[in-house]
Amino acid sequence: MESQHLSPSEQAGTNGQGGAARSGTDFIRARIEADTASGRFGGMVHTRFPPEPNGYLHLGHAKSICLNFGVAGEYGGQCNLRFDDTNPVKEETEYVAAIREDVAWLGGHWDDREFYASDYFERLYDYAEELIRRGKAYVDDLSADEIRAFRGTLTEPGRESPWRGRSVEENLDLFRRMRAGEFPDGARVLRAKIDMAAPNLVMRDPTLYRIRHEAHHRTGTAWCIYPMYDYAHCLSDSLEGITHSLCTLEFVNNRELYDWVLDALGVYHPQQIEFARLNLTYTILSKRKLIQLVREGHVAGWDDPRMPTLSGLRRRGVPPEALRDFCGRIGVARADSTVEYSLLEHCVRERLNAVAPRAMAVLDPVRVVIENWPDDRVEELEMPWHPEDASYGSRTAPFARELFIERDDFRLEPPKKFHRLSPGAEVRLRHAYLITCREAVLDENGEVKELRCVYDPESRGGQSPDGRKVRGTLHWVSARHAVRAEARLYGQLFAVPDPDKAPEGGSFLDNLDPHSLTVGTAWLEPALAGLETGRTVQFERLGYFCKDRDSTPELPVFNRTATLRDTWARLEKKEG
Ligand code: ATP
Ligand code: MG
Repeated sequence: MESQHLSPSEQAGTNGQGGAARSGTDFIRARIEADTASGRFGGMVHTRFPPEPNGYLHLGHAKSICLNFGVAGEYGGQCNLRFDDTNPVKEETEYVAAIREDVAWLGGHWDDREFYASDYFERLYDYAEELIRRGKAYVDDLSADEIRAFRGTLTEPGRESPWRGRSVEENLDLFRRMRAGEFPDGARVLRAKIDMAAPNLVMRDPTLYRIRHEAHHRTGTAWCIYPMYDYAHCLSDSLEGITHSLCTLEFVNNRELYDWVLDALGVYHPQQIEFARLNLTYTILSKRKLIQLVREGHVAGWDDPRMPTLSGLRRRGVPPEALRDFCGRIGVARADSTVEYSLLEHCVRERLNAVAPRAMAVLDPVRVVIENWPDDRVEELEMPWHPEDASYGSRTAPFARELFIERDDFRLEPPKKFHRLSPGAEVRLRHAYLITCREAVLDENGEVKELRCVYDPESRGGQSPDGRKVRGTLHWVSARHAVRAEARLYGQLFAVPDPDKAPEGGSFLDNLDPHSLTVGTAWLEPALAGLETGRTVQFERLGYFCKDRDSTPELPVFNRTATLRDTWARLEKKEG
């Protein structure tokens, strides 16, 4: 089997599919184009994707990756991968490795521009001293609770801390001693000195540094004070020469602080632009909740194929091109909205339909005996891996006297317009022969035990020899040669469109669908046994299946990526 359908030249966020975002078509690209046209930032575009290494990446991050790497690619710029690792408690090296793998898989190229906010700790500290020297930051001895109580509300101004008036010398001394580890956690913080009556609560003397006697996954025990996100992020952007800092809408109010910090220090100043985060029906996109699913064993791990994580989708068999197409179609906007999960499935099916090799497997077998086929005769029939693309080559499948077909493809008493097998009916076995059912042998419970059939020796390849009409085409495998495999059939992890909405007195966990995984057996044509792990193929008439890493030589395991039925395409047709 060839792998020529993987096209590494495709860039993240760009694709030739219909409905995809193209340059200048959304408000972010429009603003970037206005900036490059006016010569702002010297006409350059430099973005960053800034994950916090406290969990695995999910579909929401895919949107951000496609956007950041996508616009950088479209405007001849660059995109950095920056680990936003300012919180020592929740971050782990395992996550860093997983994030790297996922971004690369999705098509993000960061070359040697892999950065860590923790690499800037020394410089961020120096900037903090500079803010103190400029009278724009002070050490506060209030507790976290007191700071909250002093902050005021949307309708009431806050109150100034009694420590706000400390001299520069005292502030420098205390801040240095904070760094030196003289004080316990929570004893003091460094705050920006802005305005306790600011209408934007974010601007009421926000905390810049707090004391945390915790080891950090990269800096070890070198630090016991750690910078807050709002302080570290803008300065990291500035240090890296980012031009457009794209983030999600919940940071709209933080933009004022982003700008304040950079202006207070008089350093290079990127432009923050906010866009709506991705919400998807039947899906949870919150790391905190995804961690809970993993820790409490509701799923088999971060890469459980039902998870909306990039590693889960990859293990399920979703190609990165399908995700890029999806991200292009949903576009970016400034208003929150929820995307239908079926659109994602549509993108997956469309991609796999184009590139997945075809083969045959039977999930729920019933035995077919070809009475006029000699017992010991085995014919190797050649069949193409792909119906429309000859470059995929072909394989052979053995045809013998006893076959399996799908139990559901036979009816003792067929309803009208049933074109599959029934007593006296003739069907085509895919790429093989026409067969006619003579009789069904039932067991003591009245269940079909085997189907006695005859084949037409003139119909090799499934061709009708005399032009007689044969409507149904069934998939099949040779009973004796079939390879037994485990088939994992996945449905939605959640049973309701909005799983975040918990039922009265419950949690989002109550929305889990107990039937999201069915494990069954598949009988494979022998050519499928040697498939490499991670490869997705179409089991004809059944769906797309991806060979799982749990496979052993004795028992291959296949994850169902998607069924063949596409509700989205039908919707589109009806509406269009
Ligand atoms: P979560 O809410 O799942 O914890 P997060 O925003 O805390 O996500 P980060 O690791 O900080 O996760 O995110 C890295 C980047 O991905 C950020 O720029 C963030 O805005 C973006 N991002 C995260 N979730 C989404 C989403 N649902 N849609 C679009 N972008 C997202
Ligand atoms: Mg975050």
